[in-house]
Amino acid sequence: MSLLDHLNPEQLAAVTLPNQHALILAGAGSGKTRVLTTRIAWLVQTGNVSPMGILAVTFTNKAAREMLTRISAMLPINTRGMWVGTFHGLCNRMLRAHHREAGLPQLFHILDTQDQLAVVKRVLKALNVDEEKFQPKQVQWFINGAKEEGRRAKDVEAYDEFSRRTVELYAAYDEQCQKDGLVDFPELLLRCFELLSRNEVLRAHYQQRFRHILVDEFQDTNRLQYRWLKLLAGQGNVIFAVGDDDQSIYRFRGANVGNMADFEREFKVPNLIRLEQNYRSHGNILNAANALISHNRRRLGKNLWTAAGEGEPVRIYEAQSDGYEAHWIAGEVQSLVGEGYTRGDIAVLYRSNAQSRVIEHALFSAGIPYRVYGGLRFFERQEVKHALAYLRLLANPEDDSAFLRVVNFPPRGIGARSVEQLQDAARMRDASLWRAAAQLTGKAGVSVGTFVRLIEAMRAGTRGIPLPEAVDHVLHASGLLEHYKSEREGADRIENLEELVNAATSFVRDELPSGAAMAAVDATEGAAPEAGVADAADPWLAAFLAHAALESGENQAGEGIEAVQLMTAHSAKGLEFHIVFVSGLEEGLFPHEQSVTEEDGLEEERRLMYVAVTRARTRLYLSFAQTRLLHGQTRYNVASRFLDEIPAEVQKWLTPRGGGVFDEGAWKAAPPPARLAAKAEGRAAGGRGALPFRIGQSVTHPKFGAGVIVSAEGSGADARVQVNFGRQGMKWLQLEYAKLTAA
Ligand code: ATP
Ligand code: MG
Repeated sequence: MSLLDHLNPEQLAAVTLPNQHALILAGAGSGKTRVLTTRIAWLVQTGNVSPMGILAVTFTNKAAREMLTRISAMLPINTRGMWVGTFHGLCNRMLRAHHREAGLPQLFHILDTQDQLAVVKRVLKALNVDEEKFQPKQVQWFINGAKEEGRRAKDVEAYDEFSRRTVELYAAYDEQCQKDGLVDFPELLLRCFELLSRNEVLRAHYQQRFRHILVDEFQDTNRLQYRWLKLLAGQGNVIFAVGDDDQSIYRFRGANVGNMADFEREFKVPNLIRLEQNYRSHGNILNAANALISHNRRRLGKNLWTAAGEGEPVRIYEAQSDGYEAHWIAGEVQSLVGEGYTRGDIAVLYRSNAQSRVIEHALFSAGIPYRVYGGLRFFERQEVKHALAYLRLLANPEDDSAFLRVVNFPPRGIGARSVEQLQDAARMRDASLWRAAAQLTGKAGVSVGTFVRLIEAMRAGTRGIPLPEAVDHVLHASGLLEHYKSEREGADRIENLEELVNAATSFVRDELPSGAAMAAVDATEGAAPEAGVADAADPWLAAFLAHAALESGENQAGEGIEAVQLMTAHSAKGLEFHIVFVSGLEEGLFPHEQSVTEEDGLEEERRLMYVAVTRARTRLYLSFAQTRLLHGQTRYNVASRFLDEIPAEVQKWLTPRGGGVFDEGAWKAAPPPARLAAKAEGRAAGGRGALPFRIGQSVTHPKFGAGVIVSAEGSGADARVQVNFGRQGMKWLQLEYAKLTAA
């Protein structure tokens, strides 16, 4: 069977384009990714280019792996020479291989967002900056924004006293990172970009190597990524970019849809191809998506059609609370599995990470294996980060942020005062904390000394043993396991720590021949130690730490076990599933409250919803909850406006439309999923005598429209209720005069 068999004429044309720049602009599910991977296989198979000459970049690690799998399935070749990854992953690989030229220590550590914030705070503190005036998060946001535009502190123009000071903080932060060998996410890109622009030899080397550069999800590249691509393309290489403006959802991280137009203009792209047939979803799902996105004004505009039949209607469910919503999802999953779907066919999507816990809980209680992609970030859990900090100290004892994280964790009697003394000493000598510790005297010297000896013993204890054993050793020797054993809710944490040993095991087994690990080995210039053996200056350890920083938790259900997949709508980009649940469709949550005040923000939310809806192949469920516990508070919700934007003909409500009426049977059959529900019910019961309405009830008002009662006070003629009217806002209404009716 030929590579080109399963392509329609437009796709075929795209795959077999001559060696010229191309832009494929096409809607969801039209085969963009398929075209891109097939083109890679075709280029190699026809001898157009060797696998070494391919650089392909996409948005997530999962998508990159998927791409490699698809290519390997089409071509019986070794894909190792190809560079396929995310922008961050590829830049990491380049920087590891040329760390000296890039001005970085070999074992530089990648800061994730939280670590980065900690460093910002440290810098502010050292400079005695008022955190009220210069909020760490804002400073971080400023730094990242500047880096994403390719600007160092010296390149940023200050227009007033405040911005001048912020720029100074940016400079101080970069200096600190440089001193500690730390690299944040945008720095990976900027550093790599600077390396290539500055170093002609390296640039020429890579330009000669990567003859074909292929970019998926092009609509979500930022300015700097675009410039990086331009550098690598040089004069002679070919860029093949695919994207969909309707799926641009990373504006908040600097994504710039304008790159598509710029690319077309600057490269005088001779080939612009549109794909209009959707192969993923049934008609009703596609109609829902098309109608939804048509509410956006800023679009390049395309038509998507499908040859698949109408299929099933879009199912909509209104739950009383987030707990019930999750419980319903779990029940539905069970019956789907009964119908013959596999758990792997099913995805549950949500707008914000905080929503996952309740759904996880419901699935777990029902005994349904699930896996959380992206977002939940196994490697960002507190206990895991503590363990990683110890490992970082083994790799590089001069890593100050790792030092600070665990110097007194588990608690070993090193007080804040001692730590401050140590920091002062380090500042005075312009040395790392580790170096300063050796010279510290007095009480502080003694207590910090015990920590230094602990780390030294750990380094000795892990020398020359395989990475997973080294990790295990660190968990014990650091006292972390012991510590969490004594904690009330420590069982989960211990499991997570143990999972870290598993992570190291699979890393050594799976990642060995690829990406980060190989790059780290490249960087040792031939002196590669035995596979997976840990050592203080061990590239495997460094590679594992890089992996931990780049990857998020992807391993909840045991490997090889079919699992329901949970993820945010953002991380679902590019993926597809037979069955998709989009949960939490409530005003303020999806669309997110921070976005609805401006037109651009709302359009971006709608694109995100479009991404979510277009993941579904056969069946789409949309659900929302009347009440939800979010950030420790109960919120009373109004259904998302996006539900109104989907044509009524394709909708099928599983609960009475407009809510307020419940299926008593289902109510009683369900175990109480959340304390919250009980509480809300109790309050409503208490109010029933005094008020004709209950809390949580849906109502309508002639002027404000549909709303939900969120609280009440007073009685008789004084009775007032507070109603959330969604877009119209929150209102207090005097019951006697308000023209409220039950919806
Ligand atoms: P997204 O915008 O969501 O990233 P996409 O445009 O990249 O979507 P793909 O993921 O490449 O779309 O394709 C969607 C689905 O359609 C896949 O299952 C793919 O295998 C299938 N498909 C694409 N083209 C064809 C075709 N010509 N014949 C049959 N199936 C196809
Ligand atoms: Mg795709």
